[in-house]
Amino acid sequence: MSRKVNERNLRTLRDLLKLHENRYCFDCGSTLPSYANLFTYTFICEKCSGFHRELSHRVKSISASIFTPAEISALVSGGNAKATRIWLAKWTAKDYPLPAHGDLDLVKEFIRQKYVRRRWVDEGLLASQSQAPKVSHVLISTSDNLSSPCESAFPLSILASYLNYISTNTF
Ligand SMILES: [Zn+2]
Repeated sequence: MSRKVNERNLRTLRDLLKLHENRYCFDCGSTLPSYANLFTYTFICEKCSGFHRELSHRVKSISASIFTPAEISALVSGGNAKATRIWLAKWTAKDYPLPAHGDLDLVKEFIRQKYVRRRWVDEGLLASQSQAPKVSHVLISTSDNLSSPCESAFPLSILASYLNYISTNTF
């Protein structure tokens, strides 16, 4: 892949990481995710990337990996907000409190419940995501979307409990 394409991909990834919903690890809520999960098309932290590797899910370090245009494109149309609608569709804080990100055993168990047991998944949405055509070039630049309110893309109830949980727990 040409260097120019690589640089463009990296720029797109950095833009995606600026979006509100991608500023937190999708699995534990810690800030500034540094890995892309190519199983769920989410942004996650290094610790959670290790748990996903154990489950044979593909993860890539954002700063140390080369991404294909198809992977970038899938991350553009995916991301943490969309993944919330897919993987946490039926989740409520009452049903299963989110683990504090320092509690690795609980985070690991949460990941197992979410992806192995598929406890809260919306199967229909998941199927439509995996059937979506993976185009071989990047379609949009996300820079234009940065000023739009994140609430438009993120399910409010889940976002509210998720961020409230993160902000009220000092880890
Ligand atoms: Zn994490």
